[in-house]
Amino acid sequence: MLNIVLFGAPGCGKGTQAAKLVEKYNLNHISTGAVIRSEISAQTELGKSMEAYISRGELAPDSLVIDIVTDYIDRHRDANGNIFDGFPRTTPQAEAFDQILSTRSLKVDVMIYMDVPTEELVQRILLRGQSSGRADDANEDVIRNRIQIYNEQTAIVADYYSAQGKYEAVNGVGSLDEVFDRICNVIEKYL
Ligand code: ADP
Repeated sequence: MLNIVLFGAPGCGKGTQAAKLVEKYNLNHISTGAVIRSEISAQTELGKSMEAYISRGELAPDSLVIDIVTDYIDRHRDANGNIFDGFPRTTPQAEAFDQILSTRSLKVDVMIYMDVPTEELVQRILLRGQSSGRADDANEDVIRNRIQIYNEQTAIVADYYSAQGKYEAVNGVGSLDEVFDRICNVIEKYL
C-alpha cells in the first residue's frame, strides 16, 4: 500500500492535484479539511466542536483530526494506496500518524511538498473564494491567518519527514498539468 502525504500551504493546489493522482494511480484520497467541512455542514457534534476554529482560520484540535484519520485508515485497509491531503498539519499529528500506521504494519512512503509563494497563495484562495462557497476563503484576513498558522505550526512537519528521508519538494507554480507531471515523476520513484 502506497501512502503519500501531499503537503503545502493553503491554496497550493493539493486538492486539485490529489484528484488527478487518484485517477492515475487508483488511490483513495482523504482531505481532512473536506471531512471537517462536511461534518460542519451536517451540524454533527464533531462538526459543531470544530466550527469556531475553522471560521477563524485556526487549526482544529489535534485529537479530533487524529480520530478522523484513524477511522479513515480502518475503513480503507484494502486500499491500493492513499493520499493524505491536509494531514498531518502539526508535529504531534505526524507522531500520532506514525503510531497509528505502525500498529497496523503500515507506513508513510513519501511526503510531497508543493512549493508556492505566499502572495500567489493569497490570490489563488481569493479567486477560489468567488465560487467555493467556503467562508474561510472569502476574507483576506482569515486567509492570511491560515497562511501564518501554516508557517508557524505546519511548515515544520516537513522536517519530521525529511529526518526520515521521506521528503520530496516540487515547484507548485505552473499549469495544472506541469505541476501534475512533476508530482508524478516523484511518485514513480516509489511505485
Ligand atoms: P486549506 O489547505 O486551503 O487550508 P483544507 O481544506 O485543507 O484547506 O483545510 C481547511 C481548514 O480545516 C483548515 O484551515 C483547518 O482549520 C482545518 N483542518 C484541515 N486539516 C486539519 C488538520 N490536519 N489539523 C487541524 N485542522 C485542520
